[in-house]
Amino acid sequence: MTHYGCSLLSCGVIDERTFEMDDYQGAVARWCPGCGDHSILTAVQRLLEEEQLKPEETVFVSGIGCSSRFPHYLNTYGFHGLHGRALPVATGVKLERPELNVFVVMGDGDCCSIGAGHWIHATRYNVDMVALLLDNNMYGLTKGQTSPTTPLHFPSNTQPRGTYLEALNPVQATLGVTNASFVAQTAEWIPAHLYETLKAAYHHKGFSFVRILQRCPVYTASVYDEAVRKPDVIEMMVHDDGIYLPDLDQIYKQKIVHNPKDIDGARRLAEVTERVRLGVFYRNEALPRYEDLRRLPAHTAEERVRLLSEELDRYAV
Ligand code: SF4
Repeated sequence: MTHYGCSLLSCGVIDERTFEMDDYQGAVARWCPGCGDHSILTAVQRLLEEEQLKPEETVFVSGIGCSSRFPHYLNTYGFHGLHGRALPVATGVKLERPELNVFVVMGDGDCCSIGAGHWIHATRYNVDMVALLLDNNMYGLTKGQTSPTTPLHFPSNTQPRGTYLEALNPVQATLGVTNASFVAQTAEWIPAHLYETLKAAYHHKGFSFVRILQRCPVYTASVYDEAVRKPDVIEMMVHDDGIYLPDLDQIYKQKIVHNPKDIDGARRLAEVTERVRLGVFYRNEALPRYEDLRRLPAHTAEERVRLLSEELDRYAV
């Protein structure tokens, strides 16, 4: 339900709308019962409401996969694109319309396999947007093939006797990319941590990469089972400049103080151990952003159409 507050639109008209969670509700989500994507959608809607993001100034871009249905379930602008290509689409949107709030939703196959090149370069370009990796360790939409993050020896439709390779570590990989400016990890079954991580990512000025551990009860039900049932498997990385939720102390007793400015510490903590580490690994707003370096002149809509026509004319045969 839209209520009415007050803000000034660029055209000078007073915008009196305020938004509630229902205002961001799109189509009814068709993910499987128990799928972790449901709680991620709720956390995102909560963020949109809390930050009062205008639906018409907010864009969700996705590729292909279960999680890539995200834009359909939100009442914002959306672009359900090609497999692995969400990041270049989102980069184009943000470069041309820097005033928009741009979110990217990718699965592990989408981001870490076919989209891996885009993932590396989007991290390096450091364009201001929030990139969410919903990691269920499997291709779910196409019925259970090995993805880059499928754990070693885990059976899949493509490797029924178990996978041959160690899983790729998306956090470690992102921290290794030149100009990475925000890297965090959270889990969808801890809603308070998930929400705070999304909030920190949204407020970061630059490319915010968040890996969200996401349960898939259909194909990888056992992967996060231990981490869900035994809170001591989780180690919360806490810091005043990162995320610290004292209310979670009762459940998640394993904590480590980590300053998100410390890139070497972040890389050490990102290594796979018996612990699952959640929090902000790295944050640095001093790194260059591509949109600032590029600084193209602003064009009116008419000028854009003219420039596009001129460009297309160059290819006329
Ligand atoms: Fe979610 Fe898995 Fe179902 Fe896909 S297959 S909607 S990831 S539970």
